[in-house]
Amino acid sequence: MTRTEITALINRCPVIGDLVELKETIWFNPGVTSLEAGLPYVGLDAEDIADASRRLQRFAPYLAGAFPETAASAGIIESPLVAIPAMHSVLEQRYGQPIAGKLWLKKDSHLPVSGSIKARGGIYEVLTHAEKLATQAGLLSPDDDYSKLSGAKFRAFFSQYRIAVGSTGNLGLSIGIMSARLGFHVTVHMSADARAWKKAKLREHGVDVVEYEQDYGVAVAQGRKAAQGDSRCFFIDDENSRTLFLGYSVAGERLKAQFQQQGVVVDRDHPLFVYLPCGVGGGPGGVAFGLKMAFGDDVHCLFAEPTHSPCMLLGMSSGLHDAISVQDIGIDNLTAADGLAVGRASGFVGRAMERLIDGCYTLDDQTMYDLLGWLDEAENIRLEPSALAGMAGPQRVCADGAWQQMHLLTAQQMKNSTHLVWATGGGMVPPQEMAQYLEKRRR
Ligand SMILES: *Cc1c(COP(=O)(O)O)cnc(C)c1O
Repeated sequence: MTRTEITALINRCPVIGDLVELKETIWFNPGVTSLEAGLPYVGLDAEDIADASRRLQRFAPYLAGAFPETAASAGIIESPLVAIPAMHSVLEQRYGQPIAGKLWLKKDSHLPVSGSIKARGGIYEVLTHAEKLATQAGLLSPDDDYSKLSGAKFRAFFSQYRIAVGSTGNLGLSIGIMSARLGFHVTVHMSADARAWKKAKLREHGVDVVEYEQDYGVAVAQGRKAAQGDSRCFFIDDENSRTLFLGYSVAGERLKAQFQQQGVVVDRDHPLFVYLPCGVGGGPGGVAFGLKMAFGDDVHCLFAEPTHSPCMLLGMSSGLHDAISVQDIGIDNLTAADGLAVGRASGFVGRAMERLIDGCYTLDDQTMYDLLGWLDEAENIRLEPSALAGMAGPQRVCADGAWQQMHLLTAQQMKNSTHLVWATGGGMVPPQEMAQYLEKRRR
């Protein structure tokens, strides 16, 4: 875009001025509406989520055997939900901002198999594809005990097929590990920012890793191209996949059950605020969809992005979605936050969810490092930088009385509320790497 075009865009949509200046900012969505009014635009419904949930149940006996770390949960890949009261106090002190309500952490960072939120969508899409192939070949039917998938016959069958994906790291880990375990030939096209240890881990699992000098968008485009013209190769399209999205969405009903177990009430008088780190949008979008279906209008979802990669804020606030990239407005898309270094948002997710998301905000990498250090000290929980993006949300929401009023949220409701930070990754970060992250917090 030219200077003049950017200025015109900022005049129409002032928050984009903050983005251009790389200032930490928040955008509250003026178009947010009720679930009832917003749902028809998603194009998916409760039955789609139920279908995904049943599919994961069918695979559970197989997963429990293939990944012993899931045996305790009988093959269901789910993460802990924990209260973080000490971090709550730290945030209040550091920001000089009271946070009404209680602070919780959803530790997708510690999901089995691949240690990030991608263990939801990525694994689900591989399983869906495997089920389809095996069913079409007459080898599998929904009533079977899926533990038979670990047999040599199935491995030989899947080895005739290929799976390809473009990734900044974590999606590659999930899809690579899951596909290789089933027996597929799998290629992960990795962007320049992907960590060396993630590439090494994939290679250990027998995954082909192709490296690019460019960013995520290029890795995806190359992956897509490589898969074209090969009818036995399935390309997992992080930018547009409804299957991935549905894999993430199952988190909603699971979280609801976890809150019930912990005695946490979510209803009109006890609203829930959820803060989700956002890259291309599938993960946070799918989870938010599941949350909306589980909690209706009692849940408010906000997306968090690095100041250098605010693609969803840019796409939603301008209404241009995937027709604009952060590079178009002069932003470099360089961030230490793996998984969030995405310059152009998913067109599907932005459009599907634009009426159901309460807003987006940005934070810079240094803020993530500070939060990472504080969480380690306060709660002894270690995450990767991107997973801290959600942690900057509660103080923003609590500081904005005008927004609370607009949503008719009373002081009493805020006091009764639950703030849930979605910790999206970090469980598999090697100790030396983690030590470097911990060094980066300001003293
Ligand atoms: C991928 C990822 C996200 C965001 O998911 P998208 O689907 O790309 O929006 C957030 N955090 C981490 C750690 C991730 O790997």
